[in-house]
Amino acid sequence: MSLNKKLVEFRKKIRANQTKVITSIIDEHSINICVFCGETDNLTREHVIPQWVYERCTKRTFITTINKNAQTYNKATVPACKNCNNSILGELERFLTHKFNYVDLRDEYFINDEINKIILWLEIIEYKFHVLNLRRNLNKVQGVEYIPYIGKMPIAMFQGSLDQSPSKVFSNLRNALKTLALKSKVIKHNSLCILSTTNPHFHFFHSTNNFIFIELAQYNVALFYFYKQEFATYAEAAALAQEIVQREYGVAGK
Ligand SMILES: [Zn+2]
Repeated sequence: MSLNKKLVEFRKKIRANQTKVITSIIDEHSINICVFCGETDNLTREHVIPQWVYERCTKRTFITTINKNAQTYNKATVPACKNCNNSILGELERFLTHKFNYVDLRDEYFINDEINKIILWLEIIEYKFHVLNLRRNLNKVQGVEYIPYIGKMPIAMFQGSLDQSPSKVFSNLRNALKTLALKSKVIKHNSLCILSTTNPHFHFFHSTNNFIFIELAQYNVALFYFYKQEFATYAEAAALAQEIVQREYGVAGK
């Protein structure tokens, strides 16, 4: 089945099951169901940040703060069924890495369909963070059980403006899942900055409900995406993204 057909199925399954999925996760934060489609059989562990994103990174540090407390990523997976994880998301990631490999950003750009898919991929990461944060809030696990490779990642999470009231957390979770079922991301195209990078190191910043920055050193590509903010022009978004990256790298002492 083609990727586009798989994504049609993915959106259909999300729409059909979103109420059940969100209700189940809210009722029991650590429930074992596919967080995308609600399937309870053939479950796998879906990494919040896919391993291929940072596998070739040699220099890794881990910086993450939520509510001024250091956080660990010992629960850095969420349950997903084999079909959503391997077949659909796996195929989406293969498609994107292929594009990242072959599009030379010095003289080409991505077409609209590819931009939709990059945005979907970044929205999926955001949704997984929402699920992860909810599970972690309940589990309150201390700084043990690091997953070694993820424990050394250069992650900085900034959640200064995050409203932690339960109803807000739940509606954010619901909206993050709903967003995945929208096919066209056209109104958000200006919110995605795709940059060419020669930085040899992997960098990652994520701010829930706000933005994500992923530097994919192995593909010479950096992505900055504003989850909520819309921009009249791409230049406006790019300028703000640059400002944030410079500020946060300064904070992280890079
Ligand atoms: Zn599923």
